[in-house]
Amino acid sequence: MTTKFKPDPVLNTEIDKTFVKDEYEPLGKPVYIKKDTALDAMAGDGGYKEAYLADAIRFKMKRDNKRFWAGDNISDYVTEEYKEKLIDEATEAFELVLDRLLIDRENDPNSKGTAKRLAKMYFNEIMAGRYDPAPDATSFPNDSADRYEGMLVVRSELRSMCSHHHQPVVGVAYIGIIAAQHLIGLSKYTRIAQWCARRGTLQEELANDIAREIEKATGAKDLGVYIQATHGCCENRGIMAHSSLTQTTVLKGAFKDDHGTKKEFFDNIKMQQEFAPR
Ligand SMILES: [Zn+2]
Repeated sequence: MTTKFKPDPVLNTEIDKTFVKDEYEPLGKPVYIKKDTALDAMAGDGGYKEAYLADAIRFKMKRDNKRFWAGDNISDYVTEEYKEKLIDEATEAFELVLDRLLIDRENDPNSKGTAKRLAKMYFNEIMAGRYDPAPDATSFPNDSADRYEGMLVVRSELRSMCSHHHQPVVGVAYIGIIAAQHLIGLSKYTRIAQWCARRGTLQEELANDIAREIEKATGAKDLGVYIQATHGCCENRGIMAHSSLTQTTVLKGAFKDDHGTKKEFFDNIKMQQEFAPR
């Protein structure tokens, strides 16, 4: 058997010189590797040594056709255990950014732990809404004879970040619904809004995200979300406009189609603003 062994000339043309033939047996069957799975191999079971965990997760999301834009939640792919490792990897990357910016992170005492602080801040604070699962919003039935049928308007303070410049977006959202079959705790509106906000977003996108998640949590089809916010990317750079304010509105169901409901929503907002301006 060993004497008949013919090494594959494509795999190794030098093989005749280096192979101790008597020590090996041919496999006897061809081995196939699917061409388009090179990325899969990297994303697999740790077989690819150089790969970062972040790369493996990225490839997995691509394979699953899972969108992972700055405003998307990817908590299904990032466990608490992964998060620690991802923070370490991001620290390494931020160190490189500081080096490229020619900031002395070895001797400047204020820049020493900056890379790690940035990595932790992104994962645990300013982009936490990407990595954390949706806040638990237990709902209560609202179907008795004296069920609440009116409008509910909640004011939620928001901190977000623009995807374009990673500058702070600061403002408030007013969330209005006509109570449906079930209700959620009042603080949950704000928790959901903040979970949507703590990502890289556009304000237009954020209003849509909050409306969608509130609809999901409450089952309400009649709802409105109004956001007003200042944008660091307009205040701290570019046009340097210190007092510019951006307003966005998403209206659904009766809030959109019924003039009276729409007016009541905005009247409520005006009343709230008298108590707590911006
Ligand atoms: Zn921006």
